[in-house]
This record gives sequence, structure tokens and C-alpha cells, in this order.
Amino acid sequence: MESWGILQRNSPLFALHFKPHCPRDICIRYFTCRVAAAAPRRPNTYTTRSPPALFLTKSARLGSTLVARQSAKGSAKDPTTMTTTVELATVPTADTPGTCIYVHHEKRSYVFGHVAEGTQRAFSCRKLHLGGTEHLFLSGAVGWSQMGGLIGYLLSIGGAFDAAKEFRATENSKRAEKGQKLLRQLRNEGVTVHGADNLCHILAAARPVIFRQPVSVRAMEQREDPRGEDPTLTAPDWEDESIRVWKIPVRRARSNSPTKRRRSNSSTSNGSSSGMYKPASEPSDPSVAGLIMEKIMFTGSHDKIILVPKSIDELKPEDDAIVIDGNSMRRYDGPFGADALQSFGSAAKAWVFPDANAVPSKGDMDGINAISHGALPRTSYSETSMSYIMKCHDRRGKFNAQAAKELGVKPQSFKLLTAGETVTTDGGTVVTPDMVLGERQPGKGIAVADIGSRDFLDAFFERPEWTNPEIMSDVTSMYWIVGDGLASDPKIQQYIKAHPDIKHVLCSSSTCPNMVSNASSAEMLAKLRRIDPERFPFVSFDNTVDYQTPDNVPSIELGRAGHKVQIMPRLFYKDDAIAPFPDLHAAFNSVDEETLALAQKAKAKATDPAFLARIERQEADIPNRDTEIIPLGTGSSVPNKHRNVSGTLIRVPGIGNYLLDCGEGTLGQIKRLFGAEETAYILRDLRCIVVSHLHADHHMGMATTIKAWYEQALADKSDALIAISCIGRYRTVLQEISQVEDIGFHRLRFPSCSDSRADRDRDTTTAEQLAALGAQDSFGLRGIKRVPVAHCWRSYATELELVSGLRVAWSGDCRPSSKFAQACRGAHLLVHECTFGDDMQDHAKYKMHSTMGEALGVAREMQARRTLLTHFSQRYSKADALQPSEDSGTPDEDKEESVLLAHDLMRVKLGDFQKAACYIPAIAQVVAKTSDA
Ligand SMILES: [Zn+2]
Repeated sequence: MESWGILQRNSPLFALHFKPHCPRDICIRYFTCRVAAAAPRRPNTYTTRSPPALFLTKSARLGSTLVARQSAKGSAKDPTTMTTTVELATVPTADTPGTCIYVHHEKRSYVFGHVAEGTQRAFSCRKLHLGGTEHLFLSGAVGWSQMGGLIGYLLSIGGAFDAAKEFRATENSKRAEKGQKLLRQLRNEGVTVHGADNLCHILAAARPVIFRQPVSVRAMEQREDPRGEDPTLTAPDWEDESIRVWKIPVRRARSNSPTKRRRSNSSTSNGSSSGMYKPASEPSDPSVAGLIMEKIMFTGSHDKIILVPKSIDELKPEDDAIVIDGNSMRRYDGPFGADALQSFGSAAKAWVFPDANAVPSKGDMDGINAISHGALPRTSYSETSMSYIMKCHDRRGKFNAQAAKELGVKPQSFKLLTAGETVTTDGGTVVTPDMVLGERQPGKGIAVADIGSRDFLDAFFERPEWTNPEIMSDVTSMYWIVGDGLASDPKIQQYIKAHPDIKHVLCSSSTCPNMVSNASSAEMLAKLRRIDPERFPFVSFDNTVDYQTPDNVPSIELGRAGHKVQIMPRLFYKDDAIAPFPDLHAAFNSVDEETLALAQKAKAKATDPAFLARIERQEADIPNRDTEIIPLGTGSSVPNKHRNVSGTLIRVPGIGNYLLDCGEGTLGQIKRLFGAEETAYILRDLRCIVVSHLHADHHMGMATTIKAWYEQALADKSDALIAISCIGRYRTVLQEISQVEDIGFHRLRFPSCSDSRADRDRDTTTAEQLAALGAQDSFGLRGIKRVPVAHCWRSYATELELVSGLRVAWSGDCRPSSKFAQACRGAHLLVHECTFGDDMQDHAKYKMHSTMGEALGVAREMQARRTLLTHFSQRYSKADALQPSEDSGTPDEDKEESVLLAHDLMRVKLGDFQKAACYIPAIAQVVAKTSDA
């Protein structure tokens, strides 16, 4: 009997919503929303010269608001009916580790809280469109656990805008032919990310990976305490025409700084990275990082950026430039002082950004490359955590047309009254607005209270905002985003009890059930389990919580995804929006008789003694046949409901675990599949991670996975090391992230990176080179082979050869490579990308990917013993277009069924490929029927 684990606890929270949740494919809806959301709405009042965002003055902020308000005034929409809703998009679960609060006001949306890994996928599962997001207010301290999904989120906004533009261009060419009126060109107002110190640094760390994105992004890094000098000030710190925001920075208590807690000098890493980080006491000046982010990474268009080289004395005061001196970078936005000038080396060079209005000139990428390879000014661990109070603006009361008419006001003068003006009627009556308008509605709002760890607790409650009656008035809900074990803390409980009129929503791992957050994927897996229980597991989940809600505190609610409240114009809770617990039992039982008959047939073949004996005979020379291969993400580009982005786990019993790429959400997938206990084992034995290339869908999960591995090692009191096979430039990405938080960078070893910057990285790493890295058993590896492949800048296919002789080859993304096939001839397992079906040959060439036929061609040429195809384009949610074609040759009794298609979270042993292949027809039918439903 399977353990279902659903509704174990007798609690009203869990008694609700037992329907299976089946979100439909939302592509079309999503697309149309993007079009609407991307339309221009608000004049952009930011100056283009400096990253305004960093140090915007108060007057500039008010100026922005004023312009915006005036434009709102002219709109015909009655403000008394405009709705503002607040929805929990994610709460902490295994695969949505952060709390993300989605605020929606008319067409505009805002995000508060965390944009952790898995956020974007959750948005698509929950049918929330991220295309309309204009401002993200990141709470907590800046770190990968807080914003690991942010880059993916921003890229998707850019992608949405691009898609909308393309749609418009096509539409307009049709209209032009017909002589119809053309649609207006779209303008992208861009996205502003607000957060604590190190925000610019951590985003700019990704500069070799992200550049020239079609969305412009600004960062407002909070460096000042808005009420530090005068705690009685009540004006908001940021506002637009829809909402007002108070920013509340909380400093970490010094004594528990992670710098002191964690830093270990016991081990040094190889090469130039060895133990070099002595974090500064203060975070660095973010101006270089901010400029890079705005002018190189998220530029709002794909246009090439050409930087002009100048010597320091050629710089003009109006230039905006980055000066590279040796390896370090500094911003120039006006003349340096004489002292500063003397500090530059003779080889210092400035790269000047073109004026925003300049026509893009022709030139090379030298400037961009120089900045990509330069080092960001060193920073120190994040010490500030942000919380926020958000309130709508007060709104005028409802207009009483009847009363106005009775007073003799003509209808054409109604709008003067609603705009706050006084009207004199023809009969001489003076009518003031208060005579015809209902009671003013105060702007209601929410508080986002982020206390990530105990060392922020005291300072949080010392903030004046929480007890300021004016700021806190009309706050209807407080979202408590708190670290492990803090939800029951007496200080928090005391505050909650003292504020019974506010709804207190607790969002932490102990107060939110680790429910299945992505129903479609889990339900699909449950159906496939009915077909082939050996390969398809149930995901791990728990719909109960340990937290005991205190008696007599009715204002406490436990966070659940979908928790939704309308705060304006009137307050009400939309209880029916809460995400239901998926019913995996129903999904399991929903497989129809026809498909079950196919499964029976497959089972008969897979258990036939003669068949099994043949497999034993054929595979006698394959080492580690009990190696388990677990595709964690089989999709390309963006995560969707069925497929996460790239990542494949290889578990070799007795040797260790290996990850082939590590896209966003990889750790979440591991946790979701295996549960906490088994995840600890997987992390403990993780020996090597391969990063094939720098496209974002292949490595955005690295920082989280490495940090989890490191924390496991610390918990085990182990001095384990881990090997990262990547290019030298990616090592620097991890290094720069590790300045913001301790991810255990000093425990990482880079077998493929050369020690000296001048040399190229190694394409072959020998057993001796591996042994020299200091791990007891050389990470279970005998060698690493890398083959450059045609895809993007420095893409590699990689073969790991284990100490047992097992050889695992991973293509990364690429056009089919004969070199790869030849270099890895006879590999026992080939994991090959297969982005497109054979009907998309041209597309595959254009996008530098492989079709299924091409991937199979490489497998044949390599004579790979077993092949797993993965990394499918998101167009193939219906995977029947992607079936390996039947061999038309004569049936051969000894032919080995060696090819499988990967499914997210399937678990297949190397020695079971042939058994698994028996089930392909039944699996294809389940997938086809599900997509059609
Ligand atoms: Zn790629």
C-alpha cells in the first residue's frame, strides 16, 4: 500500500480544498496578458545618466509621483471602484523555498518578499502573469536564497516583452498590406528592483551570463535609514500613483556575524582563488555594479553596446565610464580628485558608455569583454534585512450624482467635483466636493515583516515604524517571513497579540505545509507510476505542519499559496483562491483501461526471464549497472509546469553523486523528489557538478545547491570538498556571489580551470591533476574530458570517467558534434540534448541545438551503450512529437534497446534501460492523453 500522506492532521486549514488542481496550459493567456501589460502607462522620470535608483533624491522621487499622478487624474477610471489585491504566490515548500507576495492594482503589479528559485515556475503554475511587474521589493538580506529566481524572472519579463513586440510587428505587416491602421509600437518602462545592500553586486556577478536583455532593470539599493535621524517622520519612502511604500532596513546584530561564525581557514582552494576573501567590514560602493547592470546586462534592447576606450586624462566631465585598473573596476561619473588620480596605475583604461541618444556605432566587444572579466569592487556579507509597509493612496468617496443633480450641477461639471474643485451652479449655488462625495476611503495596506534569522530579531522590533500609529494605520495584514524556529518566538507572538485587528499571516517552513506546489508535474508522475512503478516515484510532500497555532489568537493565519485578499476598495478575503492540495491518488487511478493494457503488455516483456537473461549477458561489461539516473529538469530555456530547466543527477552507489548542469530549482527538485532525509544523503555524497555552458537555464541553481552541500558538510563536521567542472570565468561568478554570502567557496575545487589566468582552461583533467586537488578519493573520478561544441561562447560537452571505469558523457547544448562522439567513443551512458523534433531542423541549426535524429546520430557514432535524451524545447509539452522513430530493419533478437526519453523526476538505473524501454508505448499514451485533456 502506498503512503499517500494527504490530510493526516485534523485541522481546519487542511480540511478545505481537496479537489485536484489542474492548471491548463496558459501559453495563450499568458501571451495576451504580456501584450496588455507591456503597454506604456507611466512617464519615465528617471534620468538616464546615473543609476538613479541607487541614490535618488527625495525631490526626484516626488517629481516622479507628481507626473504620474497628473496622468492618473486624466484617466476616466473611477478610483472608488479600482481594486487592489494581495496574493501569496509562493510560501516556503521544498521547491518554492521563498515567500513571494503578488500585489495587483488594475494592470500594474508589484512583488514583495522573496523571488527565490522556483518563483517563475510557480507563477506559471498559478496562472499569475509576471509580465506586468514594474517594481520588486525584495525583503530580507540579499542572498541567493532570497533572490535566486530573480534573474530568471527578469529574463522572462524581457522574453514576454520581446514576444509581444514580435507579435505586434507581424500583426502590423498584415495590417499594412490591408491598408489598416497600425498598432502603436510598444515601449518597455522597465523594472525596478528594491532591496538591501549587495543587491547590485549579486546581480552584476552574472554579467558574463546576462547581457543586452530586452528589459531595462534598475536597482534601488537601500543604504540609508529613512527614519534614522528622526523616527517620527511618516512620509513614505517611495510611491507611485497606486501605492506608497515605507522601507524598513534592519541591521544584523554584530556578534553573530556569519563572517565570524563560518569562516574556516583549514582548507585552501586551488589556483588564484585560494582563500582570498577577507570580507571588508562594509558592503562596497554599488555604483560600478549598478552601472553594469543597467548599461550592459538589462539594457532594454538587444542593440549592441559599443564602449569607447579612453585614457584617464581624456575623460570629459560628462562622460559615464568604468575605469579598469589592473583587474579592479571603478566608476567615473565626473572628475576624480587629484589624490584619486594618483592612485591609478599607468595602464588604467576607461571605457566610456555611449550617450543614451547616440546612434549605436560599429565596433568590437572589447569594452564589454574587459568589464566582463574585470573584478567587481569587493564587498562584504549582507548585514541589512529589508521589511516593508505598503499602503494604497487614500481615495475620494463615491460620487453621488443624484445629490449633485438636485443641487443643480450640470452633468458636464461632475468631473470637476470628483477632481476636488468647487462648482457654482447657474442658480448661484456654490457646491463643494464634500457635498456630493461620500466618505474618504483611507488607503489600506500590508506589512511585510522579514526576520530571516534570530540575529535580526531585536533590531527588527526596535524599528520605530511598527509602533508608529500613523504609518501602521490601515495596515490590514502582516506577512511574517520568518526563519526556522522563529514563528513561535515570544517577541513575535507578543506583537501579534498586541495587534489583534491585523491579520497575521505566518510564512515559514514550520507554518506552511510542504504541499505539492506544482500539481501538474506531480500528477503526471503519479499517472506514470501506475504504468511503471519501478521508474516513476511519487513526489515527497506533507500537507500538515508542526506549528501549533496558539489558542485565542484568531488573527493568526498560516500561509498558503493562493491566499488572496482584496484590500481596496473594500476588504475581503478570497478563501476560494487558496491552492488546493493536489489529489495524487485520483491522478494515479485516472489511467484508463486501454493504457493499463499496454502497461501490462510492457510488464510481461520486462519480466520475461529470457529477456532478463539476455540483458545480463549483453551488459556484463558495463560497470556500475546500479547507477541511477534522475533527470531533475528536462526542459530548455524557461521552466514550465511539466519540465524544470536543465539538471541531471547521476547516483553511483559506493562512489558518489554527480550533477550534469544545475539550472534554477535543481535543489528544489531534489528535495521534492526525495524528501529532507534522503536529500541529506544526496548532498553528502555529491562529488562533482558539471556546468556545460553559461546560458542561464544551465546553472542558476548552482549557488543554492553548493550552499546546501556546504551546510550539510558543516552539519556533518566533515571537511569534504566538491569539484566544479566549468570555465574559469564561471569560477569568478561563484567567487563574486560568495562575497555576499558564505556558500562555502573555499571548499570548491575547479579541476578544469587553469591556475593561471594567462592559460586556457584544461580540456583534459588527468587522474594526477584530480589527485592534486586534495580530495581524499579524487571525487571518485579518474579523469574529466571536455570537448568544445558549437552552441555559445565556450560551450563544452563533458565526459566524467569514474574510478570504477564508468564513463558518463553529457553533451550540454550543442549542434551534433562528431568530435564529441569520437572523443567519448564507447561511453557507457550518453546524456544528450534533444531540443527539437526532426521537423525543426532549420530551427535547430539557427538556435545551435540538436534535433532528435542528430542526437541519435551522435549516440550511434559514439557507440554509446545507453542514451538518455533530454533538454526538450518547451513547445513539446505534448511529447508524442518526440518519439524515437521505430527501427524499420528486420527484428533482431540481440538488438539492445538503448535509448530513453527523460521525464522530470524519473529514476532509471543504467542496467534497466532495456526494461524501461518496454514501457515507452504506454508512457507515450499517458502523456498524449494528459496533454489533450
Ligand atoms: Zn544553451
